[in-house]
Amino acid sequence: MNTRKRSGREPLSKALQLRIFKRDGWLCCWCKKPVIFAPVMKYLELELRNAGNREPLAYYHAHWTRNTSPLLDELGAVLDHKEAFVTGGADTEENLCTACAKCNGRKSSAPLDRWNQREKRSPIKGKYGEPQHWDGLSSVFVMLAKRNPDRLTAGEREWLKALGAAKP
Ligand SMILES: [Zn+2]
Repeated sequence: MNTRKRSGREPLSKALQLRIFKRDGWLCCWCKKPVIFAPVMKYLELELRNAGNREPLAYYHAHWTRNTSPLLDELGAVLDHKEAFVTGGADTEENLCTACAKCNGRKSSAPLDRWNQREKRSPIKGKYGEPQHWDGLSSVFVMLAKRNPDRLTAGEREWLKALGAAKP
């Protein structure tokens, strides 16, 4: 979640965020690229450290910068407003959609009609159809988080709970 853009507003609940990621199949609603549940990258890195890997790794950084976490800089999952909040778009499920970090950065608070006219990443279209079972690696997060209960931050514990509760 891009917290910088949400300053001054009620944070969206993790359960709501997950509902929207799942509804959208963990695909960016603008470019249709598969997005990644960011906390998993931190635990993948931790898994490697636990296995004795001491190499520098660019898996996870809280700021999702290209040099420190290139995958999240591109594909980190965030929520976007279809109609920007500052121009009156609401925090409703209908006005929210899953976005990759790159599209989210491009969109900022441009009104939808103006943003739609801008050059943007062309949507990917699968020759054999769209992925039906992509989960943003959220299941890997659940597995690794359960392995490292003492390392979980309060926020990550909430994610784990919300992911568990969101399972069918
Ligand atoms: Zn995108």
